[in-house]
Amino acid sequence: MNLSLHVGVYFYDGGCGILEENEIFNHKYSGIQIRSGSNPCIRRNKIWGGQNGGVLVYNGGLGLLEENEIFDNAMAGVWIKTESNPVLRRNKIHDGREGGVCVFNYGKGVLENNDIFRNALTGVLISTASFPVLKSNRIFDGGAAGIEITNSAGGVLEENEVFNNRFDGICLATGVEPQLSNNKVHGNRREVEKAIDSCRCLFQVSGNTCYPMHDFYRCTTCGTSDGYAICVSCVKGCHAGHEVKFVRRDRFFCDCGAGSSGVLCKLISENCWSVASSSRTQTAVRVASGGQTETPAHEERGNQALCVS
Ligand SMILES: [Zn+2]
Ligand SMILES: [Zn+2]
Ligand SMILES: [Zn+2]
Repeated sequence: MNLSLHVGVYFYDGGCGILEENEIFNHKYSGIQIRSGSNPCIRRNKIWGGQNGGVLVYNGGLGLLEENEIFDNAMAGVWIKTESNPVLRRNKIHDGREGGVCVFNYGKGVLENNDIFRNALTGVLISTASFPVLKSNRIFDGGAAGIEITNSAGGVLEENEVFNNRFDGICLATGVEPQLSNNKVHGNRREVEKAIDSCRCLFQVSGNTCYPMHDFYRCTTCGTSDGYAICVSCVKGCHAGHEVKFVRRDRFFCDCGAGSSGVLCKLISENCWSVASSSRTQTAVRVASGGQTETPAHEERGNQALCVS
């Protein structure tokens, strides 16, 4: 089902119905969009190649998504946004070009028994006052964190298994207090913590492609703007003896390593350029974790890393 060049299947204004065993692929925006009180049943479909996510649920969308395979989508396998509250059970959400599931802007939702794996960025990102329930999901083999919660969001996380992700299993920003019980978090590679332990700048871990969650600081000696944040390694290395102020634990990349401060990062120049050198040629984009803005779905741009939706 890819007759439309834009959206594959669009449920709106209380629309319902059953969508079963279709292949929905290569759409310019999302494979499926569910909005404004729509409550469809979406079962055992394959949804892939969407340029703006596999499934987008927004503006109070509902729906039951069961046993779908959602893969190789740009931005996110499933978006849950703006007061939406779908139920996702036993789906496989994998090999996303960015994140697995992104819950933004007062999103809710119940995610149960899903396998969320091998996504390039965060398995489940929960942001901007969103409060989903995640129960008995398996979130693994991701290219960044397993679950990240930031920006006044929270939720209930129960009996999930979170393992073998590149960063930590469950990462919580300053001020975030989800209800956690009986989650199994094991074998995550913790590359952010390891970089800090070995005094490497976090920009060597992230490049411009993701936002590692850690403690970030501002250097007032270097007279930098509000948006500027530097990692703990750069506080000790490049900015030793300067006056620094803790900003918060959150998703940033290090502006010192990125070169956006105008000061050459000593840790990057003296050590490994492998990640950083390819990224430095791009404009260093300075967006903290709170940058989400709401745009009409068909105009959505940005990516999970930049937190623009
Ligand atoms: Zn740094
Ligand atoms: Zn400084
Ligand atoms: Zn530095």
